[in-house]
Amino acid sequence: MSDRNSSEAAKLLDRGRSVSIIGAGAVGVCCANYLQDAGFDVVIIDPVEPGDPQQCSYGNAGGLSPGSCIPNAMPGILRELPGLLLDPDGPVSLRLLDLPHALPWLLRFLWSSRASRVGEIADAMIALNRLTFEYYNPLIAEAGCMDLIQHRGQLFVYEDPAAPARMTTSTKMRRDRGVKVELLNESQLRELEPSLSSAYKAGLFLPEQGQCGNPGRLIASLWRLAAQKGVRQLRAKAKGFTFGPNGPVAVLTDDGPVQADYFVIAAGVFSGPLAQQLGVRVPLIGERGYHVVLENVDVGLRANTCCAARRFVAAPMEGGLRLTGTAEFAKPSAPPRWERSEILVRQAKFMFPSLGESIVQRWMGSRPSTPDSIPVIERTPHHPNAILAFGHGHQGLMAAATTGKLVSQLVSGETTRIDLSPYRSSRF
Ligand SMILES: Cc1cc2nc3c(=O)[nH]c(=O)nc-3n(C[C@H](O)[C@H](O)[C@H](O)COP(=O)(O)OP(=O)(O)OC[C@H]3O[C@@H](n4cnc5c(N)ncnc54)[C@H](O)[C@@H]3O)c2cc1C
Repeated sequence: MSDRNSSEAAKLLDRGRSVSIIGAGAVGVCCANYLQDAGFDVVIIDPVEPGDPQQCSYGNAGGLSPGSCIPNAMPGILRELPGLLLDPDGPVSLRLLDLPHALPWLLRFLWSSRASRVGEIADAMIALNRLTFEYYNPLIAEAGCMDLIQHRGQLFVYEDPAAPARMTTSTKMRRDRGVKVELLNESQLRELEPSLSSAYKAGLFLPEQGQCGNPGRLIASLWRLAAQKGVRQLRAKAKGFTFGPNGPVAVLTDDGPVQADYFVIAAGVFSGPLAQQLGVRVPLIGERGYHVVLENVDVGLRANTCCAARRFVAAPMEGGLRLTGTAEFAKPSAPPRWERSEILVRQAKFMFPSLGESIVQRWMGSRPSTPDSIPVIERTPHHPNAILAFGHGHQGLMAAATTGKLVSQLVSGETTRIDLSPYRSSRF
């Protein structure tokens, strides 16, 4: 239910067990479900409908990977980065104009790649992602959209036949954390995915990973579920908070104030300024990514497949073949650079030589990225009734349900399922 009436907006919430969530992407909608299930009275504030293409949660690669534990910044990234940045067709893009905006974040990113830190990051990533299906499954079953989830594994493909055997650090990091990894030679790779180009000579297969066939429909379905349980949406933009003697008492929106007892910030890449009003500074950047959907194309691809060297993902989706990739560091106000999406079309033709012409849909979204690949999930240090749940970067779809459960435990005052100290903002 949406409500645009400002005088009613202030009355939306009953005092006592009321929660106001800012942001209705994957994270906000999962928080809403778990909080409502825990007996809270929830209003979610967002100017757009859950599952809308404006959300980062809409256009991602759909990877649901409980074994995901490799940080984006690994030792050696400093040597690799100049080459990635200078290649016009490469996966990373930063214009000189945007350098002052991105530099402080990039320095922290590089600092997080030190050997003594990556193991801790991997532990924090797996602790969250390992619970992906445990916390998604009940919501998805209740929402009646189990058809959206496939369990066909995740595949990394390489042109260099020796590459997987050389990936000793990341393979060990995965195996040390209980993730199954299979090394595939050329014939095993062909057998698994016959439509792949013969340029690919080897693969790494992670059989326990999954895939969502339509992230936008998933978020919209979980939102309908939340609404059926009684969660309400206020279609408005949050601008800040009003404070009482014990912390925030209302969210100020462009449609009037919304009073609540608890507040959750889950506004993706726009969370930073709201958190700052609660006394918390998080180095958050919009790491822009693109997708192209080749409409109604089915090359027979089964698994979510990542070309490791060129850093893009091909995913079989409802409606066609989706290619995602690119990390573009630009100011949020900068217009999309659609030429970046053309690179993905070229990559698709390289990966699947049998591809014919098709209608191409293009999309751009901003990953809410912290420099160390892990989100901020915490009760704010100064205001115990305010919770932060953002910064999920490349992993926000897979980590959303677990984050939702953890947030409901924080608000309820229960012991959280996992230790949340690695996700505190004070690490920065
Ligand atoms: C190309 C690409 C591929 C990806 N692939 C994967 C993948 O395979 N698996 C995976 O797990 N993740 C993937 N991701 C990352 C994932 O999509 C994000 O981490 C996730 O969508 C973040 O969810 P969110 O709810 O935090 O943010 P969003 O989905 O962006 O939602 C935030 C919401 O907050 C609202 N909002 C913002 N400001 C305000 C305000 N002031 N007031 C009210 N509302 C506000 C916005 O309107 C929006 O609806 C990918 C991302 C990209 C770009």
